Amino acid sequence: KAKYDGRNTYKFYTEDMTEKAFERLALESNLRQAIQDESFMLYFQPQIDGERDRIIGMEALIRWKDKNGEFIPPDKFIPIAEETRLIVPLGEWILRTGMQQMVQWYAKGLNPGKLAINLSMLQLQKHDFVSMLKSMLKETKCQPNWLEIEVTESQIMQKPEQTILTLQMISKLGIGISVDDFGTGYSSLSYLNRFPIDTLKIDQSFINGIPDNMENAAIIQAVIALAKTLNLDVIAEGVETEEQKTFLMNNGCHSIQGYLYARPMPSDKMEKLLKEAL
Ligand code: C2E
Ligand code: MG
Ligand code: MG
Ligand code: MG
Repeated sequence: KAKYDGRNTYKFYTEDMTEKAFERLALESNLRQAIQDESFMLYFQPQIDGERDRIIGMEALIRWKDKNGEFIPPDKFIPIAEETRLIVPLGEWILRTGMQQMVQWYAKGLNPGKLAINLSMLQLQKHDFVSMLKSMLKETKCQPNWLEIEVTESQIMQKPEQTILTLQMISKLGIGISVDDFGTGYSSLSYLNRFPIDTLKIDQSFINGIPDNMENAAIIQAVIALAKTLNLDVIAEGVETEEQKTFLMNNGCHSIQGYLYARPMPSDKMEKLLKEAL
């Protein structure tokens, strides 16, 4: 490619940046509108006990269908929702919707197990987050032990001291705590021990290459051993193949989430699956 002179380069970049800024602004205003219109959906992806092939729980994953009927992936709008703090009202909607869904399923005599709900650090850092959780549990009649919150390892490590206290209060309510994307966040093991954690969720980037990728295989084995030592549950996400499942099972990780079993699905489909499982 020809080299631009200084001026052209400058122009090129500003145009590019302007376009990006507009796109972002449009996304932000659509997001605001979508929160008002409640045009979000919660999808659910089952988590399986690989030994008995039974559903032990599921993860709630947000979906946004924009005005054109197109799905905007959460990796694209969650960061913007965080930058604009819109994640706070959106996160409350996710929590309430998840709780209400669990109450409905249990009321129907189904066995959805635990619902894992992803949290953003901004939600966790709100001073009234725990009291909000408490009143939402009361309002929806959701039992705390039907829920697990997922926080990523890197988020936890941003403000570990403050986060420990909040997580302790959440744990005291009876809600489970799971560390998402585990293995990617460089947390020190001494810290890990001080968090009231119930579950380590092995990041899918490690699952990808196994069993051939020796490095990833070794990391997975180390995480499983760590979970055993600290008396934590361990689950693998992003499991797509039988080989991956076999490797995990042989190494002591029996809880599996991934396309191998099912993709995230809307609640009516999930309900069908739960009925079949009875
Ligand atoms: P995450 O919490 O680590 O969620 C796992 C992601 O992996 C999901 O992507 C899921 O659909 C995908 N996945 C599951 N099984 C497989 C598999 O076998 N293969 C592959 N390739 N992918 C698999 P999704 O739904 O696009 O969500 C992406 C991320 O967006 C999530 O990562 C989470 O960080 C965030 N997110 C999603 N829903 C919420 C939410 O309700 N609240 C918050 N705060 N963040 C959310
Ligand atoms: Mg997650
Ligand atoms: Mg994850
Ligand atoms: Mg992720």
